[in-house]
Amino acid sequence: MDFLKILGLVGGGGLLLLAGRSWLLREPLPEPLREDDGDQAAGAERRQPAYALLEAEGKLAERIDQAYGIMESCLLCPRRCGVNRRAGQQGFCLAPKKAMVFSHSPHFGEERPLVGRGGSGTIFFSNCNLRCVFCQNYPIAHKGWGHEVSDEELADMMLELQRIGCHNINLVTPTHVMPNILSATRIALKKGLQLPLCYNTSGYERVEIVKLLDGIVDIYLPDVKFMDGAEAQRYNLAAAADYPQMAKESTEEMHRQVGEMITDERGVALRGLMVRHLVMPNRVAGTREFVQWVAANLSTKTYVNIMSQYRVEFMAFDFPLIARAITSEEFVEAIEWAKEAGLTNLDDRSLAHYETHLHRVS
Ligand code: SF4
Repeated sequence: MDFLKILGLVGGGGLLLLAGRSWLLREPLPEPLREDDGDQAAGAERRQPAYALLEAEGKLAERIDQAYGIMESCLLCPRRCGVNRRAGQQGFCLAPKKAMVFSHSPHFGEERPLVGRGGSGTIFFSNCNLRCVFCQNYPIAHKGWGHEVSDEELADMMLELQRIGCHNINLVTPTHVMPNILSATRIALKKGLQLPLCYNTSGYERVEIVKLLDGIVDIYLPDVKFMDGAEAQRYNLAAAADYPQMAKESTEEMHRQVGEMITDERGVALRGLMVRHLVMPNRVAGTREFVQWVAANLSTKTYVNIMSQYRVEFMAFDFPLIARAITSEEFVEAIEWAKEAGLTNLDDRSLAHYETHLHRVS
């Protein structure tokens, strides 16, 4: 998802965000599913999310305490700043003690299994622990546009998204506010939240932290942006040369926890891993290595979205190799590498874009 889509200026299926926190509809939302919608609805939204089962075992509160404890000498991500976030100290991500939210709304531009009929219930968190020079959401991720919310207010956002008819709670850039999210989820659960959490991350995660989410998150949606440390170092504000290792280790842990994506009879995601990879100009993202790694270390049935929408944004104009859009040839070779690697669950829009680009190069 990118900033123009967040603003509703392109794509986004009929919603317009205003002032960063409220939204108006240009056209009516699809009718949310109701319990009396029959067999199709049955068993989908009413399936127990993982965190509800963990709460029933009496373990969710303990995880929240652990997570907030880590925030006191912050080691929530590979930056390992060691600052006391709970006392208001700021680390690399510049995040304050409370979560900061730019927007919360149903989103219709995400992957089809997340969108379904009622939309993906997206909560966009401000700030970021990675901060790429080509960031397509830089006002939010780099400049921190948004407003602080208490855990109770965050819980109310989740419940509002459920009430509207969204299929999941899509937590965008959650890494640096993970403790707040867990706390809010428990508050919302006590008020009736039953939607699966979708952990929509840059991939710059510590595997030890992802292990804390075992039994809480149902759907993981990591990016794997770079396969080469030198490229990751070049295109992030503060050299993240360890990005490939962190992203690969944490994604393998996510796969261990939730496995391949499963959907209900309508094709709406219930649980599992979905991996995103943005094709970049001049092969800097290492797409061939990425698809081979998925096949060898996850599963050839992993849901993979190979994305074609790279645009020159933010500071990317200053980096010659990424200061242009990708070519049709570059996208065609990316999809063909994925097929050669044996990947069988490619996002359908990836495949549609492939057909378009194939037509242009042939
Ligand atoms: S979450 Fe923020 S403060 Fe904590 S280690 Fe990462 S960048 Fe540093």
